[in-house]
Amino acid sequence: MKRVAILGSTGSIGEQAIDVVAHTDGLEIVALSAHERWERAVEQARALGIGRIAIADPGAAASAARAWPDGEVLAGMAGVIELITGSGADLVLNAIVGSAGLVPTVVALSEGIDVALANKESLVAGGELVMALAEATGARILPVDSEHAALAQLIGPERANGPGTIERLTITASGGPFRGRTREELAAVTPDQALAHPTWSMGAKITIDSATLMNKGLEVIEAHHLFELPYERIDVIVHPQSIIHGMVTLCDGAVLAHLGCPDMRVPIAYALHHPERAALAQVARLDLATVASLTFEEPDTRVFRALAIAREAALAGGTAPCVLNAANEVAVHAFLEGRIAFTAIAEVIEATLDELGAEALREFEALLEVDRHAREVAAGAVKGAGL
Ligand code: NAD
Ligand code: MG
Repeated sequence: MKRVAILGSTGSIGEQAIDVVAHTDGLEIVALSAHERWERAVEQARALGIGRIAIADPGAAASAARAWPDGEVLAGMAGVIELITGSGADLVLNAIVGSAGLVPTVVALSEGIDVALANKESLVAGGELVMALAEATGARILPVDSEHAALAQLIGPERANGPGTIERLTITASGGPFRGRTREELAAVTPDQALAHPTWSMGAKITIDSATLMNKGLEVIEAHHLFELPYERIDVIVHPQSIIHGMVTLCDGAVLAHLGCPDMRVPIAYALHHPERAALAQVARLDLATVASLTFEEPDTRVFRALAIAREAALAGGTAPCVLNAANEVAVHAFLEGRIAFTAIAEVIEATLDELGAEALREFEALLEVDRHAREVAAGAVKGAGL
């Protein structure tokens, strides 16, 4: 049995991971963590027969401890860290949202524990440091993001043919709910409209990132670190059907593609079971005759500016992607609370990057400070852009 710890167990990825474990053989969940929704986390622990959980929000942790006297509740980020180090897990699934996932990724890798990584923000904020840490401890990072899981499966066998075989990587984007809209139309869209994603059902933050196309910007950075390819060889293409998840162009012009119905349980199972392959009977099979047509278009980065801003921050390098990520989190939060317009998300990020620029990236502690400072600057920009 592979022992798995699930961080962010109450979220969209966390719940689907529990479903994958329940419906496949060979995995055992040994630890859970969540943020505020402690009732659900305690319910999950009881159902799975787990005696110890971590609740990141201290108030919620205290409530959980009172309501669950038979179990042990670790509190705060220190509790999440203790949960990881004491779990005896073979694999940590990091399904926390946002840069709050960075420290847990670092702790797991430092312990030499493999990480199934849904938390793309870890790689965006600290890609070089995170990859170097994995290299140093020998722990593996298995991508859960559907595009990256697809690319990993395509690249793995090709890498055996030696360096230089892989020419380009292509990440597909659904285009989100506002594909084809003008900038003027985007200014008035509401959080409810932005939360209605056409092909994927996900947590609120990544759903807004999908609507702005920032999600693809974060994924280009994620792919750059995971697969060690320069940014100019990583493409994004809009593919509204979300059937092709990733493509690899080889040195002879051949293109390999990974296809499947959009269902996150497939990449989650890939990462949890790696290097084995688990049967997933509950996942819909692709019927191309029914899909009938697969279409593609260039992303419109003049309307969806977040993608262009992310690429600029990626090329600037150093601390810029960490600033980009932190400012995006603050701006998305403000948009969801109705404090800024949809189009102001990109403005807040740009203003924050302009003010903070790119510094050299040295160590994790400094990165946490960059993240904190960028949030402060972005909060100021939110006030300036307020409705
Ligand atoms: P979600 O909002 O549904 O769940 C987030 C989870 O993180 C919850 O369990 C919550 O308790 C926990 N959490 C939130 N803040 C935390 C904090 N400060 N400290 C500790 N835990 C905290 O999010 P999601 O959609 O499941 O996404 C999780 C991650 O996976 C994100 O990085 C997202 O980009 C990535 N991802 C998600 C999908 C998807 O289909 N949902 C697809 C690809 C990648
Ligand atoms: Mg993705």
